[in-house]
Amino acid sequence: MEKKSEHKQAGGSAKKRYYRKRVDFFLLINKIKLWPSRKGILHGIREFKVTGEYAELITHCNEVFQVRNSRNSRAARWLRNNWYMKVCPRCAVPDWKIEKYSSTVFNKRWGSNLGSDLFERSE
Ligand SMILES: [Zn+2]
Repeated sequence: MEKKSEHKQAGGSAKKRYYRKRVDFFLLINKIKLWPSRKGILHGIREFKVTGEYAELITHCNEVFQVRNSRNSRAARWLRNNWYMKVCPRCAVPDWKIEKYSSTVFNKRWGSNLGSDLFERSE
């Protein structure tokens, strides 16, 4: 039997997703629905409430985080680099979501800005 496909299976289904580097941090969180905590644990987000420059997010394991809308924050950097140490066992984040997270790429010049232009215009 001839084996034609030498592609790794893991890479097969994970399509790369491109976002602009300057995408609004809150829009990004709202889209990705994952939160890398300070300890490097990746939580799933259950609720995300924005109040001006701040937001409160509640994870599936009922942890509450206060977040500032800053692209330069630790969490923003982690999200952009797809970093985490481990996935929260209590949040039960599905594999496809982790795969999506890991295959997210941030680019300075192109990719989706998640409609943040529209967002600003409607203010
Ligand atoms: Zn969790």
